[in-house]
Formats: sequence, structure tokens, C-alpha cells
Amino acid sequence: MIVGNGHPVFSGIAMGRVYVYKSGQATLPTSCGDPAEEKKNFEAAKLVALEQLQALVDQTAATLGEEQAMILDVQMMMLDDLDYLDSIDAMIQNGASAAEAVKETGDTFAATFAAMEDAYMQARAVDVRDVSGRVVTILCGGKVGFSMEEPGILIAEDLTPSETVQIPKDKILAFVTRQGSSNSHTAILARIMGIPSLVKAHIDIDSELDGRMMIVDGFEGRYFIDPDAEVIRLMEEKKNTADEYQRQLETYRGKESITKQGRKVKLFANIGNPSDVEHALKGDAEGIGLMRSEFLYLGRNDFPSEDELFNAYRQVVEGLQGRRVVIRTLDIGADKQADYFHLDKEENPALGLRGIRICIRRPQVFRTQMRAIYRASALGPVSVMFPMIASVWEVRKVWEMCQQIREEMIQEGLDIGDVEHGIMIETPAAALMAEQLAKEVDFFSVGTNDLTQYTLAVDRQNPSLDGFYDPYHPALLRLLREVAESAHKAGIWCGICGELAADLTMTDTFLDMGYDELSVSPTRVLSLRKKVCESEVYPK
Ligand code: PEP
Ligand code: MG
Repeated sequence: MIVGNGHPVFSGIAMGRVYVYKSGQATLPTSCGDPAEEKKNFEAAKLVALEQLQALVDQTAATLGEEQAMILDVQMMMLDDLDYLDSIDAMIQNGASAAEAVKETGDTFAATFAAMEDAYMQARAVDVRDVSGRVVTILCGGKVGFSMEEPGILIAEDLTPSETVQIPKDKILAFVTRQGSSNSHTAILARIMGIPSLVKAHIDIDSELDGRMMIVDGFEGRYFIDPDAEVIRLMEEKKNTADEYQRQLETYRGKESITKQGRKVKLFANIGNPSDVEHALKGDAEGIGLMRSEFLYLGRNDFPSEDELFNAYRQVVEGLQGRRVVIRTLDIGADKQADYFHLDKEENPALGLRGIRICIRRPQVFRTQMRAIYRASALGPVSVMFPMIASVWEVRKVWEMCQQIREEMIQEGLDIGDVEHGIMIETPAAALMAEQLAKEVDFFSVGTNDLTQYTLAVDRQNPSLDGFYDPYHPALLRLLREVAESAHKAGIWCGICGELAADLTMTDTFLDMGYDELSVSPTRVLSLRKKVCESEVYPK
């Protein structure tokens, strides 16, 4: 039995088989010394890649339509491109292994495409890198993407946000990553899905773990591989106790979120994708307080069209059956990168071109998204909020863009609902300017994840800084109180949608500060309602 630990990001007990996921290939095999043999390996890997792509094309055409499937057609064509094949061949003849030759050729071709003037050709850089990565992975005997057949426990070095969107969510029993932090997006995803997970786990993912039995204890931050009978018994007991607590929480389903003294608060849920609405409803959320819409832009090769976005929002609005959804406009940049945006490499991405800054710089991207949101607003209650606001001028600029888009849509005869426009308060500047900003918008939603990062100058992604990342810091609490006061002075509502909203030790403080809404992972709504119903806080 192997016993190890990690930092728990969601409690619970998971038992299942290990599935090791490795993104990219760390070290490529060197040549066996015979170019003819390497060439044969390449040809065989190419055939497997073509078969995999053909299966994906068929599946994509059936689920997402021909247009999406064409993207993969392009990748299949690349595998028959003569220049591409000549380059691989020449490298193999010069002593490279098949994997090295494909990797090198893929990188060179990608760089050439990326440097082209034409936007369409630039976007092909991602395709060539993707298809080359597929062949390299096959040559290295690894898996491509997530090929889980049975539900299992996913172990990885780390998962990028674009990898998380490709995960077969119904197959994951738990996440265990060697990197990551309690505020990383893998951790956030684990909380949305309600599965026990560990980050910063001490685990050797290179040892032969695939398929072995594993238990993850998300209460204590421990894991067991090949657990013995005694551990299995103890863990099953623990799981039964947790299930019993869950049953008690069920008595709060459908209840009003109101303190003993009559103070009401809205308990909403955070989601990333339309399919998460199911989790939100299961968790008994009263609405969606944060839809991280950038996930619709990740894990793909090109911008989503207005219709694709509209369909995603429509799914959410219709799924919520009259409950409100607060859609945050895309917060790409920093840790959430999509290659086809072609953003320059930055020294400090968290302080770089991200969130609303991208939308201001790229009005066309913003326009497509806002049109889709406005169209969805005709179908049910929709609010929209803008991330990473730091200044009043940004809000005014965005509002001016929104008005233009609305006017153009009205001229086209399109229906638009009564949309609330709000902002996220997640920079210290926005918190300090809350009084002025409150006069410009319909609501505030505080993003404590980033507000903590920027107020304390502590990188939320850096696992070794977890001890310094202190969301209870008095500076932060002072800002939170002032933001709520400023919102109410201007007669607008304010909520919290960062991870801190779910912290039960803070619930009374937030109610006392006057917060009107708390938006948390779907799985946290019922425990938060229990806490609110047991609270003694009076109405403001
Ligand atoms: C936040 O910063 O608190 C927030 C809710 O946004 P994200 O975690 O997506 O940056
Ligand atoms: Mg944020």
C-alpha cells in the first residue's frame, strides 16, 4: 500500500482506479539508430493519428456540426502535406527519432504560420501543433487527450483550464494533481463537480500507477494506493458519515435562505459551462451568480461564433427555468490562455492583457459575445458583469460599446430582455473607487480570489505561497465592508462570487456587512443555507 498526502480542495471520499494523465511529452525517445526503422514508426503513428482524427470528425459532425468538424479535417490534411512530410523525413535521415522529427517540424511550421499576416493562416499554427502533438504522443506510447473508459481518479502533474474543459466529467471520481493551488481552476472545477480532490500532492506520477486501486480522502488530504482491508473499512465508515451529513443538508432543500432574525440573502452558484447548470439545480442554487464564460473559449482552435455562444447561453437560461444567471464576459488572459487569441507573451500575465482589457482592445470579440448574451436575455432573466475593472473610464467605455451593440440589434428587430449590467470588484482600485463605480452600474460582485491576490500582491496560482494568501487579511475585510457600504449608498445590490463566499466561518461577517448575495460552488449551497438559517444576524 502507498500512502501519501496533498492539499485538499474538496472534502469527501473517492474510491476507484487510477487514471494517469500526462500533458505533452517530457522527454522524447532518441533514435534507435536506423532511419528506416524510425520512418516506419512514423508511418504507423501517422495512420493511427488519421484513424483517431476521422473518428473525431464523425463524432464532432454529429454533435457540433460540420463547421466544427472541418477544423479537424484541416489537421488530417496536414498529415499529408508534402513540405511537412519532407521536413520529417529529412530530420529522420539526419539521425533524429521519429518523435523528435515530428515535434521539431510541428514547432517550426507552427512558428511560420503564426508569423503570417493572414489571420486564417495564423490560426493554423494551433492545428499544426495539435496534430503534431497527437503523432508524438502516439509515438511515445502515451494517450491523446482523456481516453477514460471507466470512471476513475485522475492523477496529473497539473491541468490547464483548457484541459479541464476536455475532461469527461462523468468519468472523474477525484482529481489528484502534483501542482496547483486551492484557488487554481482545477480546484474550482472540483468544487463545482463536488468531487474530493487534492492539489500539491506528493505523488510519483511516473511510477506504474495506471489502473491501480486508489482511495482519496478529501477530508484529511490523504490518498492510498492499493489500500489494505483496514483502510478500506475505515474509509467506507467515513464515507457513510459524510453521506449522513449530506442527508441532513437535504432538509434545507427548497427552504428560504433567511437568518433566525429575518435577514435574507440570495444563495447562487458559480458555473463554467452550460452542462454545470445540472449541478447548480442539484445543489438547489437560487440562480447562477457567476458563469465564467471564458470556458466557452477554451479547448478549441478558433473563436466561437455568435450562434454557438447564443446556444450555450440559451441552454443555461432555459435550464434555469426562471432563475437569474449572471454571465461574466470572457476573462481570458493570465492563467486562461487560448492560442488563437495570439496574445503576446507577457512577463506578468496576471497584470497583463486580460479580462475587460482584451474586450476594450478587441471590440469585435466583445461584440460577438454581447450580442449572444443579449439574444439569450430575451428568454429569461440575465445579468452581465465585466471582470477586472480598475477605473471608471473602463466602465463608461464598456457601457458605450454595449449601447451601440443594443441599438444595432434593436434596428435588426432582435428582442433583448431587461439586462442588469454590473462589474466584478476584484482589483483594489475598483474596491477603493466603489463609491464612484456604484453610480455607473446596476450591481457589484466581489471576486475575492483576485482581490486577495492583488491586494496582498500574492500570486493565487503559486502553490508555495499558500501560507501568504490570506483572504482574512484585515486589509481585505476592510475593502469588503466598504464595497458593500458604497453599493447600498447608491441603491444597488452587491454579492460575493469568489471562493471566500463559501467559507462558513465568514457567513455572519458577510451578512453583517450587508451582502445581498453569495455565489458559491453548487455543492456548497445547502451547507451555506444551513449556516444562514442558524445565524442570528438581524436585517440591516
Ligand atoms: C475571483 O477572482 O474571485 C473570481 C470569482 O474570478 P476568477 O476566480 O474566475 O478569477
Ligand atoms: Mg477573478
